[in-house]
Amino acid sequence: AQWVYAFGGGGADGDASMKNLLGGKGANLAEMSSLGLPVPPGFTITTEACVHYYANGKQYPAELAEQVQAGLAKIEEITGKQFGDVTNPLLVSVRSGARASMPGMMDTVLNLGLNDETVEGLAKLSGDRRFAYDSYRRFIQMYSNVVLNLEHHMFEEILDDHKDRLDVNVDTGLTADDWAAVIKDYKAAVREQLGKPFPQDAQEQLWGAVGAVFASWMNDRAKFYRRMHDIPESWGTAVNIQSMVFGNMGETSATGVAFTRNPSNGDNRLYGEFLINAQGEDVVAGIRTPQSLTKAAREEMGDTAPSMEEAMPEVFGQFKTVVETLERHYRDMQDIEFTVEQGKLYMLQTRNGKRTAKAALKIAVDMAAEGVISTSEAVGRVEPASLDQLLHPTIDPSAHRDVIAKGLPASPGAATGKIVFNSDAAEKAAANGESVILVREETSPEDIHGMHAARGIITARGGMTSHAAVVARGMGRPCVSGAGDVAIFEKEGLFRVRGRDFRAGEIITIDGSTGDILAGAPKMIEPELTGDFATLMGWADQVRRLKVRANAETPLDAKTARQFGAEGIGLCRTEHMFFDDTRIAAVREMILADDEKGRRAALAKIAPFQKADFVELFTIMEGLPVTIRLLDPPLHEFLPHTEEDVQAVAVATGLDAAKLMRRAKELHETNPMLGHRGCRLGVSYPEIYEMQVRAILEAACEVKKAGKQPPAPEIMHPLVAKGEEMKYLRDLTDRVAKAVLEEQGVALEYTVGTMIELPRAALRAGDLAANAEFFSFGTNDLTQTTFGISRDDAGKFLNAYIEKGIFEKDPFVSLDQDGVGDLIRIAAERGRAVRPNVKLGICGEHGGDPASIGFCEKVGLDYVSCSPYRVPIARLAAAQAAM
Ligand code: PEP
Ligand code: MG
Repeated sequence: AQWVYAFGGGGADGDASMKNLLGGKGANLAEMSSLGLPVPPGFTITTEACVHYYANGKQYPAELAEQVQAGLAKIEEITGKQFGDVTNPLLVSVRSGARASMPGMMDTVLNLGLNDETVEGLAKLSGDRRFAYDSYRRFIQMYSNVVLNLEHHMFEEILDDHKDRLDVNVDTGLTADDWAAVIKDYKAAVREQLGKPFPQDAQEQLWGAVGAVFASWMNDRAKFYRRMHDIPESWGTAVNIQSMVFGNMGETSATGVAFTRNPSNGDNRLYGEFLINAQGEDVVAGIRTPQSLTKAAREEMGDTAPSMEEAMPEVFGQFKTVVETLERHYRDMQDIEFTVEQGKLYMLQTRNGKRTAKAALKIAVDMAAEGVISTSEAVGRVEPASLDQLLHPTIDPSAHRDVIAKGLPASPGAATGKIVFNSDAAEKAAANGESVILVREETSPEDIHGMHAARGIITARGGMTSHAAVVARGMGRPCVSGAGDVAIFEKEGLFRVRGRDFRAGEIITIDGSTGDILAGAPKMIEPELTGDFATLMGWADQVRRLKVRANAETPLDAKTARQFGAEGIGLCRTEHMFFDDTRIAAVREMILADDEKGRRAALAKIAPFQKADFVELFTIMEGLPVTIRLLDPPLHEFLPHTEEDVQAVAVATGLDAAKLMRRAKELHETNPMLGHRGCRLGVSYPEIYEMQVRAILEAACEVKKAGKQPPAPEIMHPLVAKGEEMKYLRDLTDRVAKAVLEEQGVALEYTVGTMIELPRAALRAGDLAANAEFFSFGTNDLTQTTFGISRDDAGKFLNAYIEKGIFEKDPFVSLDQDGVGDLIRIAAERGRAVRPNVKLGICGEHGGDPASIGFCEKVGLDYVSCSPYRVPIARLAAAQAAM
């Protein structure tokens, strides 16, 4: 088998397409070499050799030794130098390079091949003894640390002793002889620690370094990084062995890094820095201040040190051509490492550069405009989830962050405001034009007005699908949930976190994209929804098949949704219309009534509100489909909590408070999520759903009669499990609808459907389809009921499941495609078997998650529905899923 792939001298065994075998770095070195770019010659030991090594008790493949010698011979031929030769020594670097970039996680050895004799050869060859000894001591330090596992500080202490003795502060103050003395002590220390001398044989050094790179694949850092980034352990790393070039051979030498475009804002200008007379590690170490690449950048920064363009114009000219070649060849922004050795340019690495969301967007749109990539390729170049960064105000990355606590990144964007501890205070302050952050233990439906009034929300408890998280995302309010370190003392008007007190009225900031809670008001950046953003979204819309709707119930949400390009409402949760302050009393009266007559009296008070709400919603949506879900939450949630609440109901209704209290106790449920909720309310108290259906259709008629676009209401029954249930609800709906349309003398299309939120509903979807014209997958509840885990409380133990690799991701955030996904697949199939044109959508939180949207495309759903602020993300993800 071939374990070694050579590159250099204008050709290569491999190419850029062989990343799996050669690693990212090796594949791109081969590609650059084939392009005729100046790449120091070398070879790559494949990732398969690493895999073989671990699969065979840390034994190298039998043919490896021979192939490595052949690789070395090729480098020697191209460079005219000899590995281990005293007069004309070849020195090499040994670097790791996996398929996916794992910056700084694995090991590297530079200047390999130096020993007591070859260092003299290097001194003669370079005409610079000091340089040769400096290189040798760097090598001993690095090799001892990486390969021999000796501590860094041992060498630092020796060097410091010498500096003290010589009375110099900086490394540059040491002469060749000084370095020779340091080297002597280094070697003595190694011998003392290991009981054997520092290896002098170049071959022994080489195999030591190869083994160390393979070993570094399994170090703790690398393992952790892989887990963080979903990189399989089975991939292994490649090893790149390459002829050394020196950026530290005097004033005509240099080393640097460059991006072909600005990675933070996407500007089409060369961006980067370099250092004269330095090696790569010096740039990273930050001991010296790097210089700009271009004159323009230097002038902008107000630097005094000359730019590369000014300091070495000829090499810079050549570099610029190479950089342009690379970007055109790879058709993407490149992140490049280079070295200049005595006026000669060498390319050491190129790869597609990491970038911010803003830069990704600009670069994609610019490159399409330049004709470098197609518009659909541009659509594929932007990570949908990263759009979050662009749709909300964000904290200026250069601002100072005084992070006081961390919670879950429940709803993206940043917000600053004064601390308030309850919803009424939030509303009052907002009415006075103040910005506030609502800080609560957790939120309940009664906090809607406060959440609306607040700029941002913090909860001490609750997960990613807790009430606060779902509602905040829906409203586009930044939210940090489950910030367990925040101890709230509402009565005292303060919260305490790690010994610091924050009082009501103090200014804090939250970053809902990271979960950070910060003291003070760092500088913000406002979102921009026109320009490049609009252009890219337009291209995405040309590609996608899935429709995108929004979950919205308030006029503001509906308007926001349309502004973001929603093609309808996929879920209008009518209970959110019940919780308004002025209506809650009537709702409680309805629930606490002990007979139908009492309920009807209370419902009559609510009906006009409902109807008015729907008129407004239909008007805003201008004939686009609107799915309205009838009352869903457990009655339990509407119960008055305090004596005061009960008193209020008593006063409003003239009923006896004690009797109301008794009734409230009767309605109390142990397990409300599995209790009297969803369509069970419609079955046990049909007058509730009758009122709602009537309100919907009367509103629709009114809008149509007013000469506006006729609405397309889709009436949706939640939590249905059985065909008979669906039939009952369908009949109820049609009966009321028929009556309303006759009364109004209006012809109007409406449809009736159901949510699929229970495993039984999915399995028996055929039974439901007989009476349902559409299904909407309520994957929040479907996940809850499939796993049997509570969406409100699972946060407490899910982390342990994710850490132990039992769950890859939170199933309430990204759809469990195997389990819950199977139920969706089955339901789609069985539903379509009975009603081929049954309309299928998803309205759980997963409707805004790119991976889940990919699944929806595969199953062939008709649309996804998500919170308004996620609509652009869904449009882009749907486009990518269709490509
Ligand atoms: C669902 O269960 O997925 C859903 C959309 O309904 P809700 O979140 O209101 O329960
Ligand atoms: Mg639900």
